Amino acid sequence: MGKAKVAFFDFTSCEGCQIELTNYGDAAFLELLNHIEIVEFREAMSERAPSFDIAFIEGSFTREADRERLEDIRKRAAVVIAYGACAATGGVNALKNHQPDYKEAVYGKDAGQPHLDSSKALPISAAIKVDYKVYGCPMDKYELLRIVSHLLHGKTPVIPNYPVCVECKRREVVCRYDDNDHCMGQVARAGCGAICTADGIPCEACRGFVDHPNEEALVKVLKERAGFTDSRAQSKSRMFTANLRSDAK
Ligand code: SF4
Ligand code: SF4
Ligand code: SF4
Repeated sequence: MGKAKVAFFDFTSCEGCQIELTNYGDAAFLELLNHIEIVEFREAMSERAPSFDIAFIEGSFTREADRERLEDIRKRAAVVIAYGACAATGGVNALKNHQPDYKEAVYGKDAGQPHLDSSKALPISAAIKVDYKVYGCPMDKYELLRIVSHLLHGKTPVIPNYPVCVECKRREVVCRYDDNDHCMGQVARAGCGAICTADGIPCEACRGFVDHPNEEALVKVLKERAGFTDSRAQSKSRMFTANLRSDAK
């Protein structure tokens, strides 16, 4: 079997996930390059390709004008992978969905400029069919490698659907709450290996929620154990998960 053709695309994002990709230099990624051929990647090359086996899409769908480009990518790709929180769930971009005056707050008198026109920040799956999602802000490069490796071997990638607390306990990490801190690992989707809490930093749920998270309990714990006000607990609990909350419209 020849090398799998892969292409990378970006939409509304900080492009941090692409940077994370181009930062690859470890043995696992160099080995992967023996099995794939990158045929389109604006960040690193100028060539274009008519079709590919896997399309990686970064960034949110936040402008109707992007739908046509997304549909074109879908037509050319056998498999579409949304990578990074922006593409997988809307990520931090989705915070604006809850802030009607966000443009004025950010751009002041320039808020009416036509190039700032956009609508709600949504995951790529709101515009086209997405086959797999790589969560995280930025996405976890080893998870991306695992997914590609599974696909190349004809296996179905498995994305964790249990909380970061599980990984935290496996690593015998001291709970942030026992160190007078806060944390959202109780409802955050695992898969990162509890990288933050293991380093003494709270989990901010950058990988989004597990399916059916107990949001009410999360807010209660942030208030009762970390001393947050209701408003701070509410805003903290939607930082990366605005589109996943039950009040997302
Ligand atoms: S997921 Fe985070 S790092 Fe990746 S593009 Fe979005 S904001 Fe940037
Ligand atoms: S530090 Fe966070 S992720 Fe780890 S056990 Fe405590 S609440 Fe869970
Ligand atoms: S520990 Fe939480 S914030 Fe850190 S990478 Fe994992 S999911 Fe994201």
